[in-house]
Amino acid sequence: MKSPSYIGRFAPTPSGYLHFGSLVAALASYLDARAAGGQWLMRMEDLDPPREEPGAQTAILNTLETYGFEWDGELVKQSDRHGAYQDILNRWFSHGLAYACTCSRKQLENFQGLYPGLCRNAGHWPENAAIRIRVPELEYRFEDRVQGEFGQHLGRDVGDFVIRRRDGLYAYQLAVVLDDGWQGVTDIVRGADLLDSTPRQLYLQALLGLPQPRYLHVPLITQPDGHKLGKSYRSPPLAAGEATPLLIRALRALGQSPPAELSFGTPREVLHWGITHWSADLIPRVTALEEARID
Ligand code: GLU
Ligand code: ZN
Repeated sequence: MKSPSYIGRFAPTPSGYLHFGSLVAALASYLDARAAGGQWLMRMEDLDPPREEPGAQTAILNTLETYGFEWDGELVKQSDRHGAYQDILNRWFSHGLAYACTCSRKQLENFQGLYPGLCRNAGHWPENAAIRIRVPELEYRFEDRVQGEFGQHLGRDVGDFVIRRRDGLYAYQLAVVLDDGWQGVTDIVRGADLLDSTPRQLYLQALLGLPQPRYLHVPLITQPDGHKLGKSYRSPPLAAGEATPLLIRALRALGQSPPAELSFGTPREVLHWGITHWSADLIPRVTALEEARID
C-alpha cells in the first residue's frame, strides 16, 4: 500500500544524458521512497531550452526504464508550468518582495556571486531585466539525513537572488520550490551539489507557506581531477547493456553491500534487492566521492 506520508521524486535536467552520478542520485531517491512504501514522481526540469541537448528528455526516460525504474503518475514538465511561476512572480513583484535588476555581469564581477543589492530600491521595470527576491538578514538551517546540519545566512552568504533571468527564463530555485510544493513532495533526495541551494529553497518555502520537506543529499560522483561528473563535463552516458553492473556499482557508492550473485540478476532484481535492504544510514557522509574509488 502506498503511504501518503512519503512522496519522493527525481528531477533531471535535460541538458545532457544521464551519467553515473545521476544514476546514484536517482537510485537513492527511488530506494528511499520505495523502502518507505512511498511514491516516486518524475519531473523533467526543462527550464532552459537553449541549454537542452536535443533528444535528452526521451533518452533520460528510456534509460531509466531500461534500468528498471518505475515512477508514479504522469511525467511533469516544468515547461508546462510557466503560468504558475509567473503568477507567484507577479505577486511578489507587486508586493515589493521581488524587484527588477538591470546590473550587467561586468558590474557584478567583483562581488564573488554575492549580490550587493544595487537595484534594491531602483524601481526598474521588469521588462528586459532579471527579477531578484529580497532576502532577510537571517540564517536558514536544516538537518540533512546524511550530511548533518547545514545552514547559510542569506543576507551575508547569498544576497538577493535571481528568480527569473533577464532572458525571461525562470530560475531553478523558484521552479523547484513551487513544483515540490505543488506535487506534495515530502522527501528530497538529490546530489550534494544542491546542498547550498537548500537554504534559499527553505526561504522560498517559508514565503509560500509550504511545509519543509526532509532532505538527503548524496555524495556527488567526481573524476580524479575533481571535476563534477556532470553536464559541464562530458562523461559517458549510461549504456543500456550495463544496467545491472552499473546499478550494483551505484549501490556500492551509496554504502550498500549487494551480494556477488546479484550480478547475474536483471536490473529489476537489483532494484528489488536494493529496496528490501536499503539503509540510508550507510550512505557515506561526504559531499563528493571519486568514481575510481568505488569498487
Ligand atoms: N534538476 C536538478 C539537476 O538535474 C535537480 C534538482 C533537484 O533535485 O532539486 O541537477
Ligand atoms: Zn542590479
